[in-house]
Amino acid sequence: MSETVEGGCRCGAVRYKVKVDRLPNAYACHCLDCQTWSGSAFSLQFIVPEAALEVTGKPHLYERTTGEGADARTSHQRGCTNCMTRVYNTNTRRPGLAVVRAGTLDRSDELTIVAHIWAKRKLKGTDIPADVPSWPEGAPPADFMAVLMK
Ligand SMILES: [Zn+2]
Ligand SMILES: [Zn+2]
Repeated sequence: MSETVEGGCRCGAVRYKVKVDRLPNAYACHCLDCQTWSGSAFSLQFIVPEAALEVTGKPHLYERTTGEGADARTSHQRGCTNCMTRVYNTNTRRPGLAVVRAGTLDRSDELTIVAHIWAKRKLKGTDIPADVPSWPEGAPPADFMAVLMK
């Protein structure tokens, strides 16, 4: 059984639809980049196949390459030029996957946060429940995906 969930930016100029088997699980990232980019304590996101994401409107594309040599990766961020909501990104390190800013989902209040990464940078006052997996820095990809897909 599958359903279509929808979301978009604050002003509605950029919208997306994605067909999912069930509501995707969300994760929080407490790294400095995510704090800067979200203006918040952590970013909240979920991962879907890029091919499944149907985007309407004309999101701005911002590219940023980090790391060097074999470690180099380029992040392609898409957001609304009108209201400045960042909506989703892809990364050359994870081809075929789109990382969607979870708060842009129309049904964001139904999401569950199932993992925390870069927890060593979490702000005092943000507590991670003992039964929710967390990693001090990035998570090993296989472990992380297993938790997200649970
Ligand atoms: Zn907008
Ligand atoms: Zn991060």
